[in-house]
Order: sequence, then C-alpha cells, then structure tokens
Amino acid sequence: MDTSGLDALDRRIADCRACPRLVAWREEVARTKRPSFADWTYWGRPVPGFGPADARLLIIGLAPAAHGGNRTGRMFTGDRSGDVLYQALYDVGLASQPTSVSADDGLRLHGVRVTSPVHCAPPANKPTPGERDTCRPWLVQELRLLRPTLRAAVVLGAFGWQAALPAFTEAGWTVPRPRPAFAHGTRVPLDGIDLFGCFHVSQRNTFTGRLTPEMLRTVLRTAAQAAGLPHENEDVDTDEDGGGREAN
Ligand code: SF4
Repeated sequence: MDTSGLDALDRRIADCRACPRLVAWREEVARTKRPSFADWTYWGRPVPGFGPADARLLIIGLAPAAHGGNRTGRMFTGDRSGDVLYQALYDVGLASQPTSVSADDGLRLHGVRVTSPVHCAPPANKPTPGERDTCRPWLVQELRLLRPTLRAAVVLGAFGWQAALPAFTEAGWTVPRPRPAFAHGTRVPLDGIDLFGCFHVSQRNTFTGRLTPEMLRTVLRTAAQAAGLPHENEDVDTDEDGGGREAN
C-alpha cells in the first residue's frame, strides 16, 4: 500500500491550474456562490479522489458539481448526485453513513474510492474533450497507485467510460480493441480487474427513472463481489423515488 503516494497525488491535484476555462469557472462559482450556501467558504479548487489508498473498488464519475464538490472539496459531497450514490453505497454496506454533506461529516468508505476523470467543476457539467485529456494523467497516476489492491471499477456514464478506458490503458492494463462500448450493467474483464458500466447518478437519470436506486445497488453489489469486498447481499426496500435530483 502506498498511502503517502496517494496523499501526495491528492495534494498535487488540488493545486492544478492546467485548464484556464475550468480554473476561471471554479473560482468564479466559489466567489459568487449559490444564495443558499452564502455562508460557506467554497473549496473552489480541483477535487481529489476520496477513499482509502488500499481500495479494492474504484468508482469513476464525471466531474465535481459547481455547488457540490466544488463547494465542499470532497467527491460527490453536497449535491443530489452524491445523495444517490452514497445512499446506495451505504445500503450495500460499503459506506459508514448514507449522507455526504461536508468533508468533515465523518463519512468513511469501506474498501471503496471515488474519483473522476475531470477534477474541476465544468460549466454546464460539460468538460471539453481537451479538458478531459488534460486531466487524464491524474487518473492514470491514481490508477497506478491503486493497482496493487484494485479488483473492480464502476464507471458512471458514457463520458466517464470514454475517459477511463484510455487511462486504464496508459496505466498498464490491457483494454480490448476495439474498445468495449458503454452500457448500463456491462462487465468487461481487464487483466486482474472487472470493469462495470453504470448510468450516471445525475438528476437527468435518477429523476426520470432511467437509473433507479435498485439498479445502482445491483451494480455496486456485483462490483463489490467481484472486488472481494464484504457487502450486503439482500436488497433493501428504501425510497425508490430518486426524484428531484440535481444534475452532476
Ligand atoms: S480539470 Fe484536471 S487538469 Fe484541468 S485544471 Fe482541473 S485538475 Fe487540472
């Protein structure tokens, strides 16, 4: 386990200013704020991955939300997408609590790390292909550091899928050619790990029912099993609403 390596990487990511458009946006959002968060001091910087350095399961999203991760400084923390993700992780036994509201709320992930291929909040939640490619070396380094323990990864959405596959290749995994297409529930064996596709936990998917809490739990449970992580086997009857979710 290379804890110091991952900690050092996280610190370097948080200082990155490589994408002028995203630096300007993340800092402008941090200055102007959403009125309901006026008393917050926004993070306003790149958001590093969250979770233990010896994670066996990696969840790869898209990018931090302007008033979520960009405000709290932790992945999927403080926005509706995070509400859905962490509730599901808690339901299957991979998180210590079902909520994620601030970086000091005590949340712990059990053998799971959460990251994204773009570490700065983008305008309209849409990084450009150039920004995605500029940020890729951070994911490649994170994958290399996690490799000794990593056994499975869940990629949320097609953007993350397209960004993650080249990163896995650069980090030393053999990815099939042509590259496998993204689909919800797809499972691709790479050398030593299983890669899963899952619809993103954005409001666009959860509000419309394209991604239900049960669908998400099923993917997470299967991935936890592939990763050899202890998890809850039985599905639980939680709120299937998922409504009112904000895009991430
Ligand atoms: S998106 Fe990635 S590469 Fe671009 S400034 Fe943020 S951390 Fe740096």
